[in-house]
Amino acid sequence: MKVKIKKYMAIFTAACLFLMTGCGNGTINGYVEETFSGADLAMDTVISASFTSKEGLDPKETFDKIVDNCKKLDENVLSRYVEDSEISRINLSAGSKEGYALSEKTEEYISKCLEISKATDGTFDITLGAVIDLWDIEGAIKEDTEFRVPADDEIKAALDKCGYEKVKINDHKIYIPEGMILDLGAVGKGIFLDEITPIKQEISRGTLTAGGSVYCMGQKPTGEAWVIGIKNPFDTSESMINVSVSPDSVVSTSGDYERYIESDGIRYHHIIDRNTGYPAGGGLSSVTVIMPCGNGLVSDALSTAVFILGEGSAQELADKYGAQIIMITTDGDIIKTN
Ligand code: ADP
Ligand code: MG
Repeated sequence: MKVKIKKYMAIFTAACLFLMTGCGNGTINGYVEETFSGADLAMDTVISASFTSKEGLDPKETFDKIVDNCKKLDENVLSRYVEDSEISRINLSAGSKEGYALSEKTEEYISKCLEISKATDGTFDITLGAVIDLWDIEGAIKEDTEFRVPADDEIKAALDKCGYEKVKINDHKIYIPEGMILDLGAVGKGIFLDEITPIKQEISRGTLTAGGSVYCMGQKPTGEAWVIGIKNPFDTSESMINVSVSPDSVVSTSGDYERYIESDGIRYHHIIDRNTGYPAGGGLSSVTVIMPCGNGLVSDALSTAVFILGEGSAQELADKYGAQIIMITTDGDIIKTN
């Protein structure tokens, strides 16, 4: 089998070029003022920021706090690859009668995810860990494992362990069935942006980016809207469209062009369709969801869900959640909700 691997290293090489911090008269999104820019790695992704601090504050200290917050959130709560994180401990409790006593925040995150699962008929589903592990696209991208397409019976067995409707939360305890693995990979960056609110008080305006999720903080001195470029899924070195974004918004993009591997001419990416157990194909290459800040988890979840469901699902979800959704189809057409 011929396997072409999109090098994970490329992301890190690109990231390393940005792994420097600086201050000066910079241009943020079309205006010039004293700005700080920095980038670092956390949550298995690039965290980058470009902002103006409130007077008298050291922007580097603010940025370091932001990155530190991200690392702690990942290590203590969200990562299922850190043994002692809350998600790992929940996964370890699978099948137990005692369940797992949730922290207030984690109960909030998981409950919100389950609510979005309901609203998307189970398309967005944080219980797909067993299927995600079976494909192990991330492992193959990192060249830790050799990629192979799982057999039908393996997929079926893994799917049997999944299903958001099997998760029970009662009296702040969570109960998941044996074999189930929670995976919050789709919403981690959005949760991080939601949790940054207290530190954001130190910033006048700017942008904070975590992988495919961006927080547009404050507004330009001119009062104009932020402008965000949506990557061209067919040539990721350039952007395909620029969209205007209101002050204090979050923008999340999901696509099939960032984390995938190609085998025998077929692209296998990291977003799973629960109905088939295969990487999803809803006719879209990229989905961008824009919402008011504080909704990073929701916008992240919706970008994943709409990517799977296709363009027909977008308007209803946009209306329900007060979001704006911009899609790029696999044919390169651009579709926007009202
Ligand atoms: P990114 O990780 O690049 O932000 P997404 O936000 O679209 O991309 O999330 C993809 C990740 O979400 C996968 O790596 C996996 O951990 C998880 N995932 C895959 N399929 C689903 C799904 N149907 N519902 C919820 N999470 C999913
Ligand atoms: Mg996401």
